[in-house]
Order: sequence, then C-alpha cells, then structure tokens
Amino acid sequence: MDIIPDLIGKVSEAQLKRSVFHLSQNPLPFRKANYTVPGHAKSTLDEADDWIEEQLKSRGYPVEREACRVQAFGFDPSKPKHHTYAPPAPGAPFYTVHNLYAEKRGASRPDEIILLLAHKDSQSWTDCPGAYDNAVGTAAVMEIARALSDYPNRKTIRYLFCNEEHTPWTSVTAARNARERGDDLVAIYNLDGLGGKSDADHVSGRKPAFTLYTEPEGKPFADLMAEVNDFYRIGLEQSSLQRPQPGDDDGSFVNAGYKHAVINIGSFPYGDSEYHLAGDVPERVDFANVRMAAQATLAAVVRVDQNV
Ligand SMILES: [Zn+2]
Repeated sequence: MDIIPDLIGKVSEAQLKRSVFHLSQNPLPFRKANYTVPGHAKSTLDEADDWIEEQLKSRGYPVEREACRVQAFGFDPSKPKHHTYAPPAPGAPFYTVHNLYAEKRGASRPDEIILLLAHKDSQSWTDCPGAYDNAVGTAAVMEIARALSDYPNRKTIRYLFCNEEHTPWTSVTAARNARERGDDLVAIYNLDGLGGKSDADHVSGRKPAFTLYTEPEGKPFADLMAEVNDFYRIGLEQSSLQRPQPGDDDGSFVNAGYKHAVINIGSFPYGDSEYHLAGDVPERVDFANVRMAAQATLAAVVRVDQNV
C-alpha cells in the first residue's frame, strides 16, 4: 500500500500559517543577527533558532548547531529596489550565527542521506519581515519534519536551517563540511520562496511551483516533483527548469560537488512585487500554495527514500 497519501494529509496548512506568522510578524518581526527586539536578550535570529529548535525537539528530533561567523550586508539605496544589498560597511561587526540540523536516521540505508534545507534568516540590510523569503520555506521544512516524524524511513532524512541573507551564506559551510565528512547526500531540496508569485498570479489564483536544477544530475529530482504533483493530484502548476549557474543555497551544495541539488521556488523568474521589501508580510502569503509545495516536496522525499 502507498503510504504517501496519508503522509501528504498530515501537512497542515494551519500549522504552516502559524509558523510563518510567528517567524515574520509576532513575536518575531525579523530574523536578523543585527536586530534585537527592545528589552530582549537575544537577536531575532537567535530567538528564531531557539523556537525552531524547540518545535523540532517537541517532535522527537535532537537538534545540532553549527556556528558560523557572518556580517550584515550593507545597504545601497541607489541600487534596484529588490537588490539594495551591498558589501558590509568597513568595520561592520561580526556575529556568531548557527546552522541548525535535525535528522532521523534511516533504518536500512542510514548512510544515504536525503537533505531538505531552507534559509531561516531575513534580510540583514533592510527591515523586511521575509514572509515569502523565507519564513515559508522554513515553515515548510519544519512541517515536513513534523509530518514524517513517525514515518519509518530507510534512508536518513536530514533537515538543515541555514542563513542566506547575511554574508557569507552559512550554507557554504554546511556544504563544505558535508563534503569533508564524505556525506552521501542522495537528494537535496532547497525550499525558498514557496508560492511567491506576481500580484497578477495572486489575483488569478494560480499555484506556480518551479524546481530549478543546475547540472543535468539535478533534472530527475526536478522531474520527480512534477511526477508526484500529478500522481497525487496536489494541484500545483509544476515546472522544471535548468538554471544557468549555481545559485541560492542549493548552489552552495552544487559548488561543493553535489550536482543534484535543486531549489523549489514559487514563480520563476521570481515575481513577488514585495521581494526584499517591507511589504513581504505574512498576510500576503498564499498558504494553500505553500501547503501544496510542502506536500509535493514530502512526496518526492518519500519516493526517493523508497527507491532502493
Ligand atoms: Zn532573499
């Protein structure tokens, strides 16, 4: 019997919504190493880490932290409005931030690792809540972990929460350390901007989902997204596309030699009119679209797990 429909049914749109609001509005307006809520002891990024860890632990996942040193990006208002980040100002402070890892070891093929990742931080150079970028991906990875917490996986399923809106990106450290350990990452899905789309797509109710691969080795994992979306009637408008060069946090893994790393994103080119702006708020998020993308990703992960 196919267990995937039951597992898809465990992905809760309400829980996704609660997580995204928690991470991008209340109690955390941002997730930045360089912003602390007045009166609080920790940065909003450290507070987000603590909350993500607590959620994962409550589902039975031990959490490991990997420390990295980063700076906030500088702000250059003369640049195009979606891309106002710049190199850090001279003498800008360094912060210790963390990659968070949770995993469930595989019962029969533990050395084969399926990796799901999302950057959890918001834009360090500007006051953007980062609901689509990338509270949605963070919430989706957390929700997939929750839905799979009792699933008897054969391969190891690993969840990584990294930082990509500070510099350097901490997925670079994660990928390099995976390579140095000799980790056999058999599938890598980066979730970023799930459901993010143009205002016109919002109005017309479209549910776009692109999976981008860089090297030909990634194409089967992109095509698998389309296959499970059709087979389980999830409802996404799912497309596969080759990107011209490595990019985003999947690119950090491609650059470390993991050629099959892919990204699941909403529209492509990314059409969110509030991308990297103060208007990237949770009220604008199409949670049905996010839920479908999380469900399709979960289905792809289980297919990879069962493909022995
Ligand atoms: Zn971004």
